[in-house]
Amino acid sequence: MALDLPSIIKNFDLRKCMQCGKCSASCPAGFESNLKTRMIIYMAKSGIDVLDLNELWSCTTCYTCQERCPKGVKVTDAIIFLRNLAARRGNFPRIHLTAIKAIYDTSNGFPLTPEISKIRSLLGLSKEPADVAHNEEALSKFRRLMESIDIINMIREAQK
Ligand code: SF4
Ligand code: SF4
Repeated sequence: MALDLPSIIKNFDLRKCMQCGKCSASCPAGFESNLKTRMIIYMAKSGIDVLDLNELWSCTTCYTCQERCPKGVKVTDAIIFLRNLAARRGNFPRIHLTAIKAIYDTSNGFPLTPEISKIRSLLGLSKEPADVAHNEEALSKFRRLMESIDIINMIREAQK
């Protein structure tokens, strides 16, 4: 998918940004990382390709910036959209591959481990939770759903 910045600027109201900095000032992820929300919006609004910026992936999508923006810029929605484009280019943190693969294999980003099974037993719970991972039919449907959004091909490409 190509980066169509004019459409992004229009669809997410980036042109309305007056660079007040309220988004950056209220961004919890910005306190702990290099994420500068105002700068990302400024660059995208100026027609600069931001898809290679690692900072895009520091956003936790908490929506604080979008809720507080005085101009109604769809800040978080824009970041999520830009990340989707970046991922299609193969630009995403490789650490996510492990979680995505686990989700595909088991429907769970944190698959059941022997240790967790043991703790469940100690708590009087069944060893295995009644989730999709333990229902072959549901798991197969779930995998088809993931395949339909092409995420599996993205993973394979990224692993080459
Ligand atoms: S809060 Fe809104 S107007 Fe202010 S810098 Fe951020 S995006 Fe721009
Ligand atoms: S949605 Fe992302 S950019 Fe906005 S405040 Fe939350 S972490 Fe920061």
